[in-house]
Amino acid sequence: MPRLVFMNDRLVPEAEARVSVFDHGLLYGDGVFEGLRAYAGRVFRLREHLQRLWASARAICLEIPMTPERLGAAIEETLAANGLADGYVRVVITRGAGSLGLDPARTRDPQVIVIADTIALYPAELTAKGLRLVTAATQRSHPAALSPRIKSLNYLNNIMAKLEGQQAGCVEALMLNHKGEVAECTADNVFVVRGGRLLTPPPDAGILEGITRGAVMELALAAGIDCREATLTRHDLYTADECFITGTAAEVVPVVELDGRKIGTGTPGPITLRLQAAFHALVRSGAP
Ligand code: PMP
Repeated sequence: MPRLVFMNDRLVPEAEARVSVFDHGLLYGDGVFEGLRAYAGRVFRLREHLQRLWASARAICLEIPMTPERLGAAIEETLAANGLADGYVRVVITRGAGSLGLDPARTRDPQVIVIADTIALYPAELTAKGLRLVTAATQRSHPAALSPRIKSLNYLNNIMAKLEGQQAGCVEALMLNHKGEVAECTADNVFVVRGGRLLTPPPDAGILEGITRGAVMELALAAGIDCREATLTRHDLYTADECFITGTAAEVVPVVELDGRKIGTGTPGPITLRLQAAFHALVRSGAP
């Protein structure tokens, strides 16, 4: 059965889901996106993802030609049309076709695209044992250049770091900000555990405020685990008791090594495993 993709106002077969070569999303990475996940027929934190998408669009002065309610319904329709109760959804909003110049004013028809697919996880063996990370030499974009809080179609900064990770045999890489502080990974947020307390970099470290990150912070609070935002350096990761990363696709994944150094015991830690289990329970509970 061909996959169905939602394009602007209706579902079309994958082969008909096309954008213009003049679309500024393609020409300049001018657009925004979201990655969402459905569990047992329910999209996890749909409202939060839509809010972040609208905030990203607003930050680049792009008007999404649809209401959040309509887009939310389109996401659900696309999952259902592809028979996916559990799946990953990519929402892409491009600036639309224009002239061969940067000027966003000379574009029209922003494209609204919703793709539903099965979820591509990191290999189960890696996530069970815990990931090895390396620190990328590529710094996370300076917030004054391109704010990491905008989930834009311009992901080359992250891709450059991802390449460095892969060249070192890792599936993820740690990115530092322009001040040398820990920011995040290429597509995941990062947490450490020290003395029973959970720490994660604040938004002004130059990160995307992950929806999974927010859910994990809430779960920690509910479990009586002290959790706070703090400026972290690699020193804090090298000397942490535990470390893990979070993301819509990854969920909660232990990190056991950074730059060839073991973190804690070099195995997934107890607080990481507790929060991982709590996260799995939350997403499968049917809570919105
Ligand atoms: N940081 C970056 C750069 C990302 O691309 C993502 C994935 N969207 C995340 C963090 C994790 O965010 P979320 O939990 O909302 O998927």
